[in-house]
Amino acid sequence: MPASPPLLLFDIDGTLMRKSGPLHRQVLVDAVKLVTGLDATTDHIPVQGMLDRDILAWMLRDAGATPSKIKQAMPQVVQHAQALYTARCPDLRRKVCPGVRALLQKVSRRQIKAGLVTGNLSQIGWTKVENAGIAHHFAFGAFAEEGKDRATLARRAIARARRENWITRNSKIALFGDHENDILAAKANGIRSVAVATGISLPSALALLQPDFLLTDLRDCPLEEILA
Ligand SMILES: [Mg+2]
Repeated sequence: MPASPPLLLFDIDGTLMRKSGPLHRQVLVDAVKLVTGLDATTDHIPVQGMLDRDILAWMLRDAGATPSKIKQAMPQVVQHAQALYTARCPDLRRKVCPGVRALLQKVSRRQIKAGLVTGNLSQIGWTKVENAGIAHHFAFGAFAEEGKDRATLARRAIARARRENWITRNSKIALFGDHENDILAAKANGIRSVAVATGISLPSALALLQPDFLLTDLRDCPLEEILA
């Protein structure tokens, strides 16, 4: 291992895998109904790049819940959403984005630490990567429960890696993501941003935020350059 081991952080949806969204949306709707009796929807919410708790708060608000009702219901809604997702999640191995498996195998072979930084609730995020057959590549993760935005989640992930002595002050750290919010989170933490156009954000929209790397997908990912 080099004196300053690198750290790679990955968003899940649109970055590691695609189209695991419909079930995810449905369990949020079902959990709101179960706990509050309210009929909510995600149809009008731009969920990409958002944190699950923010999506739930938006759904509850638009379904007529007061701020105090939202606060009171949230812990149970979160718990039910995670349980429903875990119970219903299908095999996701075919949803993994191009180049992801090869890149993660390379990362593991080189003993580079990798972590998840995602707006998913923790059990939903871990279930996705487990059912996609890629969970073993990740040492840890920062999830929706742990912060108010992606920049905070990335900061928590980096702090955890420091605490565990996986990285030093000079370590190169990169955040891979498919959304403008991933680029902003990387920049807010002074780490490298690797934007990958496998989500719904157009390459031109991602380019506006000037990520350090902008890739069509993760095939032939220039890992050496990213870590240089
Ligand atoms: Mg994403």
